[in-house]
Amino acid sequence: MNKLLLFHSFNNTKNADPFYDLSISAYKQILRNIEDLLLSDEIMISFDDGYKSILPAVDFAHKLGFKTNVNIVTSKINKPGFLSDKDIKILFNKRTLIGSHSHTHKDFSRLKDDLLEKELTISKKLLEDIIEVPVKYLSLPYGGYSQNTFYLANKYFSKILISRPLFFKDQRLEGRLSIHKSNFLKINFIKNILLGKNNLFFSSKILSTLLLKKFISNEFYRSLKNKLLMTTSKNYF
Ligand SMILES: [Zn+2]
Repeated sequence: MNKLLLFHSFNNTKNADPFYDLSISAYKQILRNIEDLLLSDEIMISFDDGYKSILPAVDFAHKLGFKTNVNIVTSKINKPGFLSDKDIKILFNKRTLIGSHSHTHKDFSRLKDDLLEKELTISKKLLEDIIEVPVKYLSLPYGGYSQNTFYLANKYFSKILISRPLFFKDQRLEGRLSIHKSNFLKINFIKNILLGKNNLFFSSKILSTLLLKKFISNEFYRSLKNKLLMTTSKNYF
């Protein structure tokens, strides 16, 4: 089973969420710290949204022997600050697993079935036109999913990635630990998650967040989180 860490953007990428944007040197330090933890090919470094600033980060991960996965918001391809179709092809040729992160980054758990199918099929087609092989990975925007979302998404994608480090018996679902401003220095915490050590406090926090997000909107959740953590996360991606 792969263990996945999730990153978004680097070095204050313009229009990126500052909460998820890390310096490239902090990123490199994390990878060096986990380099000898497991076999490096058991760990996959995943990147969501498709910012151009991930390009050197992907190369660095490969240099240390990690696998990589990049999930792209396809309406942003070729837009300033985002990957171009040429970049995507280059990443694919470097053996990065290319995945979809929807077409317009809508919250799937709140979308009607026909709109959800559109998000899935348009994005899959655009990526397959670029890399010319079937795209199997889908990363769910905002990490949210319901039974129905999962069922529909799985019609088009065989691997569904979420943004919580939950490990599933179901091989079609993969959890990831999202690295951001409030946990990137907690290297022991990151190591323990990768090693699968149980952290009861953290597991219950994840489950209560998932439950809470069923009842409130992403915007409200984000503003609540900002107040509690005194951060300035935006709701772009
Ligand atoms: Zn996203």
